[in-house]
Amino acid sequence: MVTSEYERRIAARFAGFDQDGNGYIDREDFMAAAKALLAEFGTAARSDKGQALYVGAEAFWQGMAGIADRDGDQRITREEFVNGAVKRLRDNPDRFAEIARPFLHAALAVAGGDAGAGGDAGVGVDDTARVLRVLGVDKEVAAQAAAQLDTDGDGRIDEEDIVSAFARYFTVPE
Ligand code: CA
Ligand code: CA
Repeated sequence: MVTSEYERRIAARFAGFDQDGNGYIDREDFMAAAKALLAEFGTAARSDKGQALYVGAEAFWQGMAGIADRDGDQRITREEFVNGAVKRLRDNPDRFAEIARPFLHAALAVAGGDAGAGGDAGVGVDDTARVLRVLGVDKEVAAQAAAQLDTDGDGRIDEEDIVSAFARYFTVPE
């Protein structure tokens, strides 16, 4: 069987969302991602940042389900992911950014950025790479992406740049 580069990338994106690897994306995967981020950064689930992350994860899941879960069984299969999420979000990356933003905002606050406090000081390059890695982005890709986002080389990245990069990574696989 010949697997194209495009198919390989789609599979990698799907695997990134399917955190527990059971073959479909559902609410549990988003909760698992939140839990993994809290563990990675040693943040308590009951803290304000922890709660905000779970709220963001739920919103992210609801947004993805609204776009991709065509049969409404609360699961996004690989077929639904490819034909629903990837195609529709590729046509409209802003929509994906909108869906993912509350979760990413909370995740970056957990990672130690000032985003959670409403500041715009940005997030550290290394912390950004750690967040991307926990979210299923390939280790080298994560490090490279984070470094590239720090355009002025001061070691900090704007939250908005991270949201756009995340949207690009998951929606423009070709
Ligand atoms: Ca899953
Ligand atoms: Ca479904």
